[in-house]
Amino acid sequence: MVAVDKKGKETRITADTFVIAPGGRPRYPDIPGAKEHCITSDDIFSLKTPPGKTLVVGASYVALECAGFIHGVGFDTTVMMRSIPLRGFDQQMAGQVTAYLTLTLTLTPTCTLTLTLTCTLTLHLTPTPSPNPQVKNYMAEHGTKFIECAVPAAVEKLDSGRKKVTWTLKDGTSASDEFDTVMFAVGRDACTSGMGLEAAGVQVNANHKITTKNEQTNVPHIYAIGDVIDGAKLEPPSDTTELTPVAIQAGKLLAARLYGEGTATMDYALVPTTVYTPLEYGACGLPEEVAIETYGEANIEVFHSYYKPLEWTVPNPNPNPNPNPSPTTSRSSGRCRTAAHPSRSLALALTLALALALTFTLVLSLPPTLALTLTHA
Ligand SMILES: Cc1cc2nc3c(=O)[nH]c(=O)nc-3n(C[C@H](O)[C@H](O)[C@H](O)COP(=O)(O)OP(=O)(O)OC[C@H]3O[C@@H](n4cnc5c(N)ncnc54)[C@H](O)[C@@H]3O)c2cc1C
Repeated sequence: MVAVDKKGKETRITADTFVIAPGGRPRYPDIPGAKEHCITSDDIFSLKTPPGKTLVVGASYVALECAGFIHGVGFDTTVMMRSIPLRGFDQQMAGQVTAYLTLTLTLTPTCTLTLTLTCTLTLHLTPTPSPNPQVKNYMAEHGTKFIECAVPAAVEKLDSGRKKVTWTLKDGTSASDEFDTVMFAVGRDACTSGMGLEAAGVQVNANHKITTKNEQTNVPHIYAIGDVIDGAKLEPPSDTTELTPVAIQAGKLLAARLYGEGTATMDYALVPTTVYTPLEYGACGLPEEVAIETYGEANIEVFHSYYKPLEWTVPNPNPNPNPNPSPTTSRSSGRCRTAAHPSRSLALALTLALALALTFTLVLSLPPTLALTLTHA
């Protein structure tokens, strides 16, 4: 292998085995002004100035997580979606996440005081969403906005420094608005081009990914791990290859097989994953849509169970934040199982204990005079 450093110096490296793990980089859409005036999810973490009014283009977990924290720190945020949110995840859950994202962020200004404390407290004190027109109006006026069924057409930099984004809607009409920051999260491409893999005979698929079996490519002494693995070509196919712990585990097992006495191979099936949107969502296994497609609707049963997280219980005494009129349903057979709602008295007891512990900690950590005042209060 020939390695070239930043100064252009070439070094020839020989080895028995090579592992390709260059990961992926965000993709830009092919529209005027995208590369010149917009950023990606990689850049959002190294901005030198606050993002201001932000447009996030995309509806993947990367897009929604970024929109969640940008709005969470107080910036006007809009998400532009082409089709569905969180493609590949259970769509009923995805809807709940985006509905909550909009609702919660809309209501956050009422908790201005908590924003000056910590994120955890903000979450505790966020009012329970209640599905009524008032909240909807409030959402439209103050919450995270969702522009649905739209694709960006062009981005132009104005004299003010703002970016004017023009987009096309599904019905063919177009619209535009100005933003301080436009962030694309429309997918990532594996960094396999420009490495000369073709010279080594490694087959790279049209999606820039590499077909592997037990991390081995079509060239026996060349392996691949991480985001460059083509999950669709695994047996069984997996859409959870692009996760840090998956790359780490695959690498560990490969090293043990190559240089130790290991024999275990990586199992890419049933990898649990979490989406860190304001309403966090964890999933493991097939989304309902894929289960129906794979096994047929008649062969699967769906159980729903709703409960309110303990941390929401005391500040929001409504019994169930779920906007679904039927809290527990079964699609196919009518045989339902319900998870018990957390006991309100237990919640109250725990919260009182927490409040006492917090007061105690606060008192201990304050100067004596202030502590005395607090104790008397
Ligand atoms: C916004 C965002 C949020 C995410 N959140 C999560 C999460 O919560 N949980 C989770 O599990 N996963 C998350 N992921 C996915 C996770 O980051 C990736 O799956 C993981 O980093 C893949 O590891 P990797 O080793 O394949 O690639 P990377 O971590 O991308 O590492 C590749 C390295 O190779 C280097 N490189 C590239 N080309 C070359 C070359 N030609 N020569 C030498 N070096 C090269 C790169 O500079 C980089 O350092 C997230 C991804 C994004 C974008």
